Amino acid sequence: MSTDPLLARALELREELVALRRDIHRHPELSFEERRTGETGRAWLEELGLLVENRIAGTYGVLATLDSGRAGPTLILRGDMDALPITEQTGAAYSSSQAGVMHACGHDAHTTCLLGAARLLAERREELRGRIKFVLQPGEELPPGGAKVLIEQGGILEGVDAALALHVHAGIPVGRMGFRPGVMLANSDRFTVRIKGVGGHAARPHLAVDAVAVAVQVYQSLQYLVSRENNPLHPFVITVGALQAGTAANVIPGEATLLGSVRSLDAAVREALPERLERVVSGVCHAARAEYSFEFTQGYPSLVNDEPFTERAMASVRALLGGEAAFLLPAPEMGGEDFAFFAQQVPATMFRLGVGNETRGIVHPVHSARFDLDEDALPLGAAALARIAMDYVNGAD
Ligand SMILES: [Zn+2]
Ligand SMILES: [Zn+2]
Repeated sequence: MSTDPLLARALELREELVALRRDIHRHPELSFEERRTGETGRAWLEELGLLVENRIAGTYGVLATLDSGRAGPTLILRGDMDALPITEQTGAAYSSSQAGVMHACGHDAHTTCLLGAARLLAERREELRGRIKFVLQPGEELPPGGAKVLIEQGGILEGVDAALALHVHAGIPVGRMGFRPGVMLANSDRFTVRIKGVGGHAARPHLAVDAVAVAVQVYQSLQYLVSRENNPLHPFVITVGALQAGTAANVIPGEATLLGSVRSLDAAVREALPERLERVVSGVCHAARAEYSFEFTQGYPSLVNDEPFTERAMASVRALLGGEAAFLLPAPEMGGEDFAFFAQQVPATMFRLGVGNETRGIVHPVHSARFDLDEDALPLGAAALARIAMDYVNGAD
């Protein structure tokens, strides 16, 4: 392992970073309600002597600027702050104090790594050129996404040349970090289908239009789009996560609702989705004499990492932690992420921070009630963000 001064300092700060992460973990806040977390971040950043703006665009978002006073590019580092509506089942001593709210996506670690990186860089401001901005972002888990709000209404990307973020991954062992130039995550959209049939007595189906029977056909026919109509080399996946209908065993329901999520990697596939889905819904309902309404809501776009910036970031992490630490992620994932809105505006990269540790039983994925992370990842994540940022603004390659 190298003796990079940023890494050495991050390892010295380990206990402080762990305490910060546990404090945030114990007090999780749902999307766009991150008052306490934003306040914690604001206090930390002000103590570093940075110029801090609070309550960006009417949210709990925080933006801090570290200006070297020397010519150079501007990089923004992003950490998201929100938790999920999940009841924690890790049994950890630092478990959530809020029933039904949990940091199950690791955003407590993202906030901690961002604040750690801010400290590392502020301590070495004399060695920097250009500007580094730090944004604590609300509402990653809830469309339209805090990123979109902060960019469109808060103007946080004005004068920014590149953007950097990390996301924890329990499937990657602590000490390793995954990079992916190009497409990394999927377009993530939603739809609602409401079917209107005619309710009736269970004994007399011929006098009714059974909304459950129609909903089942709609569900099956939608999957047919995936398997028979779509080019398998440009994939998409449809999940109907909720199917709601009926009240009793002996009543044919007149109404049914399907709530669905569609993930795709390709812009052209995404664009064709509303027409394809509605055509199937319409055809099935027509055949069954039912009426319907169809709504399609675009969520987060696909996250496309800038190739040259991603390669530079990977080289920085190799120099920091050794050649084995940084690796190329073999394929995109169908998850979504609102950091994609940053990547649509400026060259950006998000890398995967390994937080898994099989020998310690840290194996559960994000969005699980048993998700936890190996806290040894916190100083490594902070040092990686700081090293990538420093190399970027100083123009190292
Ligand atoms: Zn998440
Ligand atoms: Zn997340």
